[in-house]
Formats: sequence, C-alpha cells, structure tokens
Amino acid sequence: MFDGFTRSGPATVHVRGGRITAVDRTGSRPSDRYVVDLGADACLLPGLIDTHTHLAFDSGNDPVASFVAADDERMLTGMRAAARTALLAGITTVRDLGARDFLALTVAEETLRTPEAGPEILAAGPPITTFGGHCHFMNGEAEGRGQLIDAVRERHDRGCAVVKIMASGGQMTRGSRAYLSQYGQEDLRIVADEAHRLGLPVAAHAHGNEAITDALAAGVDTLEHVSFSGEKGIDEDAALVERLAGSGAFLSLTLGTRGTLPLEVRQHLEPRLDSRRKVHRELVRLGGRVVVGTDAGIFPSKPHDVLPHSVEELRNLGLPPAASLAAMTSQAAIACGVEGRKGRISAGADADFVVVGGDPLRDPASLLDVRAVFRAGVRVR
Ligand SMILES: [Zn+2]
Repeated sequence: MFDGFTRSGPATVHVRGGRITAVDRTGSRPSDRYVVDLGADACLLPGLIDTHTHLAFDSGNDPVASFVAADDERMLTGMRAAARTALLAGITTVRDLGARDFLALTVAEETLRTPEAGPEILAAGPPITTFGGHCHFMNGEAEGRGQLIDAVRERHDRGCAVVKIMASGGQMTRGSRAYLSQYGQEDLRIVADEAHRLGLPVAAHAHGNEAITDALAAGVDTLEHVSFSGEKGIDEDAALVERLAGSGAFLSLTLGTRGTLPLEVRQHLEPRLDSRRKVHRELVRLGGRVVVGTDAGIFPSKPHDVLPHSVEELRNLGLPPAASLAAMTSQAAIACGVEGRKGRISAGADADFVVVGGDPLRDPASLLDVRAVFRAGVRVR
C-alpha cells in the first residue's frame, strides 16, 4: 500500500501480489501498518515505458563494434546492467527492439522472475532485415514470403512480445542507407498480417518516406523513427504527414539525449534537425499519436536511463505536459499492447511506479528527481 499524490490528488494505492488491487481517492488515511508514506511533495506516477531500446548496445563510441566483438556471455552481462540502469530511473517497461539472436528473451525471463533485476522487457528478438541489411549482425535476415512468415512464427513460438522489421536502412550499419527501403509494401504486409494473426504487434523501423508510406499501408502498429530522411536532407511531404497523423498508428519518435551527440552524428544530423522537428511538430499539431522510443544504447548521449530526459523535447514539439507524460506511460502501453497492465494506476494494473519530487505537470524536470521506484510491488529504489 502506498500513500501519496497522483494527478487526481491524494491517493492510497493498495497493492497485493505485484498488482494494484484498489486506488482510494477518498483521502482517508489507511490504517494498515504496511504503508509506505511517500510524503506530501512526492508524486506517484505509473512506471515509465521506453518503446524502443537496445539493451545490447553499450552507449559507447562504437556500439556496433563492441556488439560484434562481444560473445553471448559478455553481451548478457551488459544487457543485465543496462536493464538495471533503466529500472533505477523509473523505467519499469522497455521494448527491446533488437539484440543478437534471442538473448533479450533470456534477460526478459530474468526480470520477470526477479523484479529488482530490471524493467519488464518486451523483446523483439533479432529485427527482421534483408541479407546484409540494417543490423544484419543481429541474425534476423529473411527475404521472400516463406522466410518472412517463418521468421514471424519463430518469434511468436519463442515468446517475443513484438515483431520488429527494418523497413528502411539505417545509419549504424555500414553500407546501409537510411533513406532507402529494404522491403516493399507487400513484404511488410506479409509480416504484419502473420504477426497480427498470432496476436503480436509489429514495429517497423522506417526512416525514408517510401518506407514510412509502405509500413503505414501495411498496417504496422508502431512506426519507429519516422524521420522523413531523404538522400540530401529531410523530405517534407505534407500529405504523408497528414495521413500519418490521422492513421491512428503510433509514431515512436526517437527522442532523449543526455549530453552531446558524437561529432560525426552531429555533422550528419544537425543540418536536418530543424526541418525534422518542424515535421514532427506538424505531426503533433494534427493529432498524431506520439510515443517515445529513445533508441537507448546507440550513442554515449543515449544511456539506458535517458527516457525522462525527453520531456523537454516533447514540449518543444508542442505536446502539453500531461500528454508528454502519457507519451511515456499510458499511450506507450497501448502502443506496445500492454494497456490495462502498464502505464496506469488503477486496479488490476501491475504495481510499477516511479515516485518523483514535485509536480511533473508543472515542472518536467521533476521526472529526474526520482525518490523511489517500485516494480511489481517491490521497492527497487
Ligand atoms: Zn533502434
């Protein structure tokens, strides 16, 4: 049982067996002796959800080189540390959108057994990619109807929570071009249809406009990055922005930075940042469903606890404070298919909380003043 403050005022949250059993907003003081009094200036929030992380990337200067050099044991050690880092910042659910083979499932099982070990991990396994394509070194290469269907089925059978497909290329992989498509619309549809038949959501990595268009038409659940990358800059396409915003698909924007980006990334990105922000602002203005996927792990400025640092960027995109919090709690839960269980403080939901000092609706920076973290009812910080 927790006695504290939520968005709707003073509340006592009753917890049993890792779940919320009741939320009492009458203001009456609980008489139970197992009460955690969080204090009058503390705000109780649902644990945060990062819709796009890579536990296997080490946030170093060359994460791909370290990734390729690490054997499974070393990679698992790094992933466990990354999971713990995220958890202590109040991130109680992460979607791992790519590690080698199915290693993320190993860590996911561990954190399910031991809440102190890390967030609940919704693992994609290796992203489905073309031969030699973006992140091929994660071992998820598949092309053509038969292989694509087999790949989806394998992820389902092994217990993945989501299917990730690289609709476009990406910056991190040598030889890959982010603005070029890797799969056509028909391929993406095969993957989406098979995943949905099996009850799994699909996350499509999509930088270029063609990949974004095709992923949207194929009916994927979340579009990752949505950066409108063209060969020479940002390809602004008002009609596509409008379609995206009105589609109901979740747009998992790559936000969250602590410190500065590496020089070569800055040189590539900075000329594009303004125009990309303009497009994203327009997406928000038109009612696009925005959630935050940090891509934690891919740069030194993206450690695995970077998510709370994205609230400022969300505000700059024009998202009101409450909607910014929803983007990393309730909306993120819907995007990941775990609504009802995550991202909310109500009876039946998992007892995942972050307790911060002050009121994050007035001061977003209070998300960084973490007073306590609970995972499945266990206090981990
Ligand atoms: Zn990623």
